[in-house]
Amino acid sequence: MREVPENKRILFLRFSIPGSAGVFHPYNRCPPLDIGVMISLVKRRFQAHFIDCRVKKYTEKRVVKETVEIDPFLLVLSFASVDYQAALRYSREIRKRLGRVKIVCMGPHASTLPGTLVYEGSGIDYVLRGEAELDLLKLIEGLDSPEKLRDIDSLAFQGKERSEVNLIENPDELPFPEHETFPPSLYYSIYPLQVYSRLRWGYVLSSRGCPHGCIFCSPYIRNSYGSRVRFRSIDNVIGEIRHLKSLGRNIISFEDDNFTVSERRTLDLCREMKESRLGVSWVAHSGVDELTAEMMAAMKDSGCVLIKLGVESWSEKVLAELGKTRNTGEYIKKTESIFRAGKKLDLPIHALLMINTPGETPDDIAATAGMIIKSNPASIQVHYFTPYPGSRAYDAYGKEAGAVYDRHHYDSKGIRICGSLNARQIRETRKRLYRSLYLSPSFILKHLRRYFLFYLRNPGIFPELLRMLAVR
Ligand code: SF4
Repeated sequence: MREVPENKRILFLRFSIPGSAGVFHPYNRCPPLDIGVMISLVKRRFQAHFIDCRVKKYTEKRVVKETVEIDPFLLVLSFASVDYQAALRYSREIRKRLGRVKIVCMGPHASTLPGTLVYEGSGIDYVLRGEAELDLLKLIEGLDSPEKLRDIDSLAFQGKERSEVNLIENPDELPFPEHETFPPSLYYSIYPLQVYSRLRWGYVLSSRGCPHGCIFCSPYIRNSYGSRVRFRSIDNVIGEIRHLKSLGRNIISFEDDNFTVSERRTLDLCREMKESRLGVSWVAHSGVDELTAEMMAAMKDSGCVLIKLGVESWSEKVLAELGKTRNTGEYIKKTESIFRAGKKLDLPIHALLMINTPGETPDDIAATAGMIIKSNPASIQVHYFTPYPGSRAYDAYGKEAGAVYDRHHYDSKGIRICGSLNARQIRETRKRLYRSLYLSPSFILKHLRRYFLFYLRNPGIFPELLRMLAVR
C-alpha cells in the first residue's frame, strides 16, 4: 500500500446513545474485536484512538467534545440500528465542526441498511459492509485516489450503485486484535463460573460464519457475517490464547457465533488446548444440533467451564417457526441429552431462551417453563424475539415498524408484539420464567454451594447479575 503521511489520527468509535448502554446486558461488555483487529492493522502508520460509548456511557455532547479534541482525519463509526438516529445526529455535528474529516460507518446497521446512512446531508461519507477489517486499509489507500474506491466491493457511498457484504476468506491473514485496548476492568462477562480466582477476561473469535438459518439472526446479535464457516487454524488460535495469557488474562470467552459447528474442529482444538497446557478456563456459545456428549467431554477436559446453549424454546411449533433446527422432531430430545451430559460431566449449561416469538401461545411458553423445571440448567437468559434489520424476520415483522430501531432484544420498552401476548404479559412471562429457576430453594442452595467462592473472589458480579435480572 502507498505511504500515507505519518502523525494522522484515526478515531474508532463504538457509538451508543446514552440510556442504551445504561441498559445492562453482558453484550455491552464484550469488546468489539473487529475494531481491535483494525487498530492492530493501522497502528504502525497512524495514531489509533478508540472510544467505546457502550462501556463509558458518554453523553452525545461528551463524545462530540472528545472527537473534536482528537481531531481525526478518519472517523470509523460502528453502531447498531438502535443507535442509528443518534449516530446520524452525531455525524452531522462532527461534519460541522471538523469539515474535512472522512466519516466511515461499519457494523450491524451499516452492513444491513447502508442506504439509511449515505445520502446528501447525512454527514457520512462511506459505509463498509460486513467484515471490514481489510477493506478499511483499501479505503485509506483510496482516500487519495478516489477512482480506486469503486473497486472496493463492500464500500457504499453516494453515486456508487452496488455494494455487498464482505466475508474474510482466510481469517488467519488478520493480526490478533489489539487486546491491550480492552482492559479486563471494562470488558468482562458476568456468568457465575466454577473458577475460584479473580477473573481477567480475554476474548477470541476463532471462527466466522454460521450455517444455520434462525429467522431472528442478524448482524446485531453476531460477531461475524454469512453462512459460510471459516475457521482460523488451531495454531493461530492457540497463539492468541498464549498472547492473552501473557497479558494476564486467565479466562477466555470464545465469541464465535457457534463454536461447536464442526465436531472434528472442536475436538481438534480442545485436544490442542489440553496438550498445550494453556491453563486457562474458557466459555463458548453452542447450538444444539451439532453438540455431542463426546464434544462436551473434550470441552470440559480442556478447560471449558460453561456452555451458552442457544435453546430458545421447548415448543416444536415455535422451534419450527424460528427456523432453529434442521431436525425439529429430534431437537427437544437432543437438548435433554445435552443437559444430562452436562450434569454427568459437571459442565454447567446456560440456556438462552426466547419469548414473544411469532404465533407463540401460552401453551408454548408453558412447555418452555416445564423444561426449566425438568432440565434445571445452571442458569437461563430470556430474550424477547426482535426482528432486527438484517434478520429474515425483519421483512415479515419489523420492516414497517420504525420502532424496531428503538429497542434491544433484552429490553421490553416499545416491544413489537409477535406472539399472542400483550406487552405486559410478555414482561410478566419473562419474570415468571426467571423466578421459576432463580427463586427455587434447591437452585439457590446448589448455586451457592457451587459459586460461593467465585462470588467471594469476584465481588462485583452478584450485584451486576441482580441488575441484569431487573431489566424490563
Ligand atoms: S445459530 Fe446463532 S449465529 Fe447461527 S443462525 Fe442461529 S442465531 Fe444466528
